[in-house]
Amino acid sequence: MDYVSTRNNSVKIKAAQAITSGIAPDGGLYTPVSFPSITMEDIASLCKMGYRERAAEILSLFLDDFTKEELTSFVNSAYSGDKFDDPAIAPVKKLKTGEFMLELWHGPTSAFKDVALQLLPYLMTASLKKTGEKKEVCILVATSGDTGKAALEGFSDVSGTRIIVFYPKDGVSKIQKLQMTTQKGSNVGVCAILGNFDDAQTAVKSIFTDEEIIKFAKGKNLFFNSANSINWGRLVPQIVYYVSAYCELANSGEIKIGDKINFCVPTGNFGNILSAYFAMRMGLPVNRLICASNRNRVLTDFFNSSIYNSKRGFYVTSSPSMDILISSNLERLLYYAAGCDDKVVRELMSSLKTNGEYNVGGEISKRLDSLYSVGSCDEAQTKETIAAVFSESGYLLDTHTAVGLHVYREYKDKTKDETKTVIASTASPFKFCKSVLEALGEKEQGDGPELIGKLSKVTGIKAPEPLTALSGLKERFSMSVPKGNIKDAVLELLELK
Ligand SMILES: *Cc1c(COP(=O)(O)O)cnc(C)c1O
Repeated sequence: MDYVSTRNNSVKIKAAQAITSGIAPDGGLYTPVSFPSITMEDIASLCKMGYRERAAEILSLFLDDFTKEELTSFVNSAYSGDKFDDPAIAPVKKLKTGEFMLELWHGPTSAFKDVALQLLPYLMTASLKKTGEKKEVCILVATSGDTGKAALEGFSDVSGTRIIVFYPKDGVSKIQKLQMTTQKGSNVGVCAILGNFDDAQTAVKSIFTDEEIIKFAKGKNLFFNSANSINWGRLVPQIVYYVSAYCELANSGEIKIGDKINFCVPTGNFGNILSAYFAMRMGLPVNRLICASNRNRVLTDFFNSSIYNSKRGFYVTSSPSMDILISSNLERLLYYAAGCDDKVVRELMSSLKTNGEYNVGGEISKRLDSLYSVGSCDEAQTKETIAAVFSESGYLLDTHTAVGLHVYREYKDKTKDETKTVIASTASPFKFCKSVLEALGEKEQGDGPELIGKLSKVTGIKAPEPLTALSGLKERFSMSVPKGNIKDAVLELLELK
């Protein structure tokens, strides 16, 4: 499989090179030139496999410069029993007729980001070898809360790598912050940015194309790379769980192979729902992809109007990992929707950069409408959904997943679409104790790890072990910088200053 930049498709590279490069030199994102296809017979045989085997099969279709043996050994290490607390890795739970939760938070940091970020260090180290890259890789991450910890956990003490995470100072939950600032490992750094996630993401992206700092790093035998979902290595492991969820529904007799299902995904940077799109384009029978936004409803407005307008108020919500106005991965979808026309993508992205908005026009808009439905969920609706679901079924949703479920239920009411629907459950509710407790009618003062025990007590549900262990850990990182000073922070954390 070859990969091209969304902004210049004349240069083709292999997956290993896409993974070592992160972002393309032109600022575009690497994306496959075509979609490998799976048949109904393939799905039938995937149904007989466990998660790890399914992963090796799907990954090998996209990463054909890796051997099956390599990929098998990577997935066995990444998705081992001591990393994931459910043997199914990504189990599917039935909430009620037609409604299924795909639980993606059974990894070490309790968010869906683990599924990709437990695997990425193996893909990255192997890619460095394959491409003959001798320099040490320094991974820079901008996080809206969950990517940061999952990336730190994945890359901590991985030889030949360093990692620095930037998070918005007032834009993450207290528990998310502590998860990052207590991270162990000799190759890790964490820094707060005085700004929001978009500021952090823009600042980090600017380093990847800053010739001065790239040259300086090269002199120190270092190069920069991304573990955000702009890196293809972050997206490809996520395709697996959509295929796997389909197999689970078939195995439990909910569907026959060939029946279509919907996926509903609470969305921020558009990485997770784009992975569902890849699964669909491979031939997985999918009816609709339902994109759910929180109060920062830039994507909902975009799909409804064909105009992407990032010039709007930014809200800090109870689903902070979706507080994003510049949704990076939409660029990959636009590339395909534009018929793989890199010129169109260049023009749209240049308009976004200079005017803060773009209009994709009728043709692209029509194609997107044929695949996607959208909706948004405000703060009150998020809380109402958590409370309603807990009282109706004893199932506890986190704030992000609640956004997804609310949007799905509204969609179903409106369209009367009875297609069985899988909702991506993206985080454990114990990462967002304060908001979840408030939704259940408890009045909370603090928002730290002291609430984890309380939420367990109120709901009778056991908290993930690594979260209960947080209160005993010492904070290691307290650095914070204005958004314009990220370069200095990188140099300082790398001890190059
Ligand atoms: C990152 C994240 C999202 C948004 O995922 P994208 O791939 O950025 O669209 C949703 N929920 C949770 C809990 C997350 O951590």
